[in-house]
Amino acid sequence: MSHPLVAILSGAGISTDSGIPDYRGPNGLWRKDPDAEKLVTYEYYMGDPEIRRRSWQMRRQNRTLRAEPNAAHRAVAELEKSGVPVRVLTQNVDGLHQLAGMPDRKVLELHGTARSVICTDCHARGPMADAIARVEAGEADPPCLDCGGILKSATVYFGERLDPVVLGQAAAIAKACHVFIAVGTTLQVQPAAGLAGVAADHGARLVIVNAEPTPYDGLADEVVREPIGTALPALLRDLSGVGNSDRG
Ligand code: ZN
Repeated sequence: MSHPLVAILSGAGISTDSGIPDYRGPNGLWRKDPDAEKLVTYEYYMGDPEIRRRSWQMRRQNRTLRAEPNAAHRAVAELEKSGVPVRVLTQNVDGLHQLAGMPDRKVLELHGTARSVICTDCHARGPMADAIARVEAGEADPPCLDCGGILKSATVYFGERLDPVVLGQAAAIAKACHVFIAVGTTLQVQPAAGLAGVAADHGARLVIVNAEPTPYDGLADEVVREPIGTALPALLRDLSGVGNSDRG
């Protein structure tokens, strides 16, 4: 018998215990501060060297790169190690699922990653840490080392499309999974909201772990309002037990 596929959709709420604020959500910092939002808006970033210089200074101070995974990230990785097939679909760009031990290939980063840079011209990628080291060494707006093009964070900026390949893979997982757990996401931003709906439409057990109500609570089989750091590990331990008894 094959084990049930568990899809975990994570949003900003899973990383707040790691000290990362919610930048992008409906009440996020970027929505409240149009000036800060310009730093992550493709058109402004590409058109204005001053915006890029400010962006690099912001990245130098970004807490995301120094954050550590918390109990919820570790619980997801432990479920995967227990033998249950797990796929993570995340709206977060912090890379904390992988740092907690989830294999790269089992994490789909819907909004990209803040741990890499990408050239807007030749699309070469490299570590963010290397680019920041160049800023520290005096380059205000370090260009691509391959072609001289403009480098940006490998996150999806406002005005950019989400990667259609990643989106297609996420939709396929939502259709195929047996359990879909939405954790720390308000399910108000696409594509996250749509993925929860797709999973429910295809018969998955829908579990929502979030402090605030979401538009999908009525569709859910289970809604958990407890703090993520304790609620998610408990929930995943139960799933892991089911997987073990199937094997026996
Ligand atoms: Zn380049």
